[in-house]
Amino acid sequence: MQSITVLGSTGSIGESTLDVVAQHRNQYSVFALTGNRQLEKLARQCLQHGAQYAVVNDADSAHQLRGFIADQNGTTEVLHGVEALCEVARSAQVDIVMAAIVGAAGLIPTLAAVQAGKKILLANKESLVMAGAIFMQAVNNSNSTLLPIDSEHNAIFQCLPASYLDGDQSAVKKLILSASGGPFRTWTMEQMKSATPEQACAHPNWSMGNKISVDSASMMNKGLELIEANWLFKTSPDQVEILVHPQSVVHSLVQYVDGSVLAQLGNPDMRTPIAHGLAWPERITSSVADLDLADIAQLSFEKPDRVRFPCLRLAFDAAVAGGDAPAVLNAANEIAVEAFLNRRIGFTEIAQVVENTLSGFDFREPGSLEAVQDSDARARAISVALIKQLEI
Ligand code: NAD
Ligand code: MG
Repeated sequence: MQSITVLGSTGSIGESTLDVVAQHRNQYSVFALTGNRQLEKLARQCLQHGAQYAVVNDADSAHQLRGFIADQNGTTEVLHGVEALCEVARSAQVDIVMAAIVGAAGLIPTLAAVQAGKKILLANKESLVMAGAIFMQAVNNSNSTLLPIDSEHNAIFQCLPASYLDGDQSAVKKLILSASGGPFRTWTMEQMKSATPEQACAHPNWSMGNKISVDSASMMNKGLELIEANWLFKTSPDQVEILVHPQSVVHSLVQYVDGSVLAQLGNPDMRTPIAHGLAWPERITSSVADLDLADIAQLSFEKPDRVRFPCLRLAFDAAVAGGDAPAVLNAANEIAVEAFLNRRIGFTEIAQVVENTLSGFDFREPGSLEAVQDSDARARAISVALIKQLEI
């Protein structure tokens, strides 16, 4: 029996994780669940999964959550704050931590789980983008097992030869990250200028949280994933190719030196990579429908358009620049996406805010977590000021 903490259990990945866990009650038990705003949902999850602990951000939410749990005679103990998130991530009673908080808020608790040597199922790509060097150093030092849940990286992980992660990369020529192209794949720049949050969040194939949905629409998601891949698989930005594949069935590919290309396929349902990560190196069922290729009939592929989707270029350049450039890119993007979701800026202004934040920045190598957080905070302040100017 393995015990799991789900950081961000009320989100899209969190819910899918609990769905898979519930299918295998004889193998996995829930230690702690965490959430931010959806307190009634969190209370329901705690009762349904028998969580020992629940963690929320502040004392008010904790008070409300205790009320919801007590109403149903639940016994889950409620804690709050970042330190409590870290505690339930590194507790000696925990074997597996699903890191599914969205954005920079996921970094500190995920790192706590890494430092405690847990098996980490990493959905929170932003933590690697922000602090890749520090994060991977911590993985090496603690001997924790890091398994990618992002579907593309999970696919690549499944297609790589065993020798690769042990350090022998000689068999592999390049990694190919597939991208759906998002809801605006065929839109002109002019059309994208007036795109609404509802349109941006209506992803054609995947049902996800709002932030990653907007990132998919701008293709910043693929840019963040390029940086994520570089850290996970020790590649340079030019060893990772991006391939637009609108059906989201081929989740990513590995090209070998002999001309072979291995791909992982499946229906677009995150329960597959989640089940893979949970059971690795074994396999468990996930309730994902069998892939019916005859029914899908056609798979198509095209090159990404870096002119209509400037976030791809910005992320590539940040990956090449290295140092704190990816942290700045990520912070600016989080601020800009939030402003877009709140209808304060237009869709195409997301890339503009990110570009202008990056261009005013003097990049440096962040030697510590504090330095990363400092770059993150400075980038956020610049982005906030840029957004104020755009609103005038
Ligand atoms: P979501 O918005 O649906 O859920 C986010 C979760 O994080 C919620 O539980 C929320 O309560 C919690 N949270 C938000 N802000 C917080 C804060 N400040 N402090 C503590 N908790 C906070 O997001 P999602 O779609 O589930 O994505 C989660 C992560 O997984 C993201 O990093 C995303 O990039 C990654 N991911 C998601 C998918 C997907 O299909 N949804 C696929 C690949 C990767
Ligand atoms: Mg992905």
